[in-house]
Amino acid sequence: MRTHKISDTVTKIQITPLDSNIYIINNTLLIDTSTGHHVALIKKALDTLGITHDDITCIINTHTHIDHIGGNHLFKNAKIMMHESAKTTLKEPTLKNTFSKYFNTTLKNSDIHIPLNDRDTIRAKGTKLEIIHTPGHSPDSISIYMPDQKYLFTGDAIPVRFDKKLSVYIKNRETSKETLQKLHNLEINMLLPGHGKTIDNPQQIKELLNL
Ligand SMILES: [Zn+2]
Repeated sequence: MRTHKISDTVTKIQITPLDSNIYIINNTLLIDTSTGHHVALIKKALDTLGITHDDITCIINTHTHIDHIGGNHLFKNAKIMMHESAKTTLKEPTLKNTFSKYFNTTLKNSDIHIPLNDRDTIRAKGTKLEIIHTPGHSPDSISIYMPDQKYLFTGDAIPVRFDKKLSVYIKNRETSKETLQKLHNLEINMLLPGHGKTIDNPQQIKELLNL
């Protein structure tokens, strides 16, 4: 487990390589919650930041794969937000559509309190976040843009690993292409993906969005 302060606003928590990254905005809003398997490690990370589970009032999930939403049930005070199309998946969560088969587990909480749409805006203690629907990896994938710092949280929408795992990221090639075109004109200082390192090299960002 590692916590990394990216800016005054954003902290990144990495639980294990299989878990999604968890990003905390202003110690109140989470982007993704990992598999939720490692309860003690999540608590330890929150301790490091001087907060508890109850301080989290809002969760945005980038999509409905279990390595991104599995920990939602740990945050009892949080309103859970996902793209509105996530409702379809979570009405009947299966081993296949939530990726549970890869993690040998089932979903503990499939609540959505606030469905999101493309271009919706959210504020987390004054920090503005814009929702961008970015399907391709899954139909309900969203990215979250923070205009103040020009950060883009991408979940698994952009294939950040240039290796054989690429096919895992792209489920629908045509839709993925449209998604990349949609992000093409956005001014981005940093990509904050659902797995692995953040990317702030302008050339690398350009290449990833040109794929
Ligand atoms: Zn995924």
